[in-house]
Amino acid sequence: MDERAAIDVEDCTRCSALPDSRRQIVNGVGPVDADVVFVGEAPGEQEDREGEPFVGRSGTLLDDVLAEHELDRQTVRITNAVKCRPPENRDPTTTELRNCRDYLERELEAIDPVVIVTLGKVPTEHLLDRSVAVTAEAGTSEQVTIRGATYRVLIGIHPAATLYDPSTRDTFDAVIAEAAALLEG
Ligand code: SF4
Repeated sequence: MDERAAIDVEDCTRCSALPDSRRQIVNGVGPVDADVVFVGEAPGEQEDREGEPFVGRSGTLLDDVLAEHELDRQTVRITNAVKCRPPENRDPTTTELRNCRDYLERELEAIDPVVIVTLGKVPTEHLLDRSVAVTAEAGTSEQVTIRGATYRVLIGIHPAATLYDPSTRDTFDAVIAEAAALLEG
């Protein structure tokens, strides 16, 4: 079994509502030795259809900003806190986040990144285990211990937020710039 297969979720029915709402489980993409892992909330409609996280307009925006900071989608890991699309794109429940936590931890443990960048309020609060004013705190980071390993978690906003509110684009850019700087350092 290769390392990718070992961290991919092949089949899972832990969440009662999600096996019926998903087309497929959407695993993370990107190298298993990536230095940075981006963690979103959950697959949306297009991700569920294509089987890849952060595709569509949000994904294109993420790719563009990564490129502006000399980061390439092919060299970073992109994943979600829950691997299945919730019905009607609702937020994942606390139980669903808890159910899927083991898979996310397994993924982070295998990759052992230099920095984890959260994309939005749900994955940020999930990983930091506290309430977060995500726009105000974006670009700051703190240490989090997962399975005995300590990671730097950099707080970021969801790229879709910049589509709804263009005034947040500078914040999003600054987070990716900070991620690139942390990788350099
Ligand atoms: S969200 Fe995670 S825990 Fe829930 S059914 Fe999908 S893979 Fe399993």
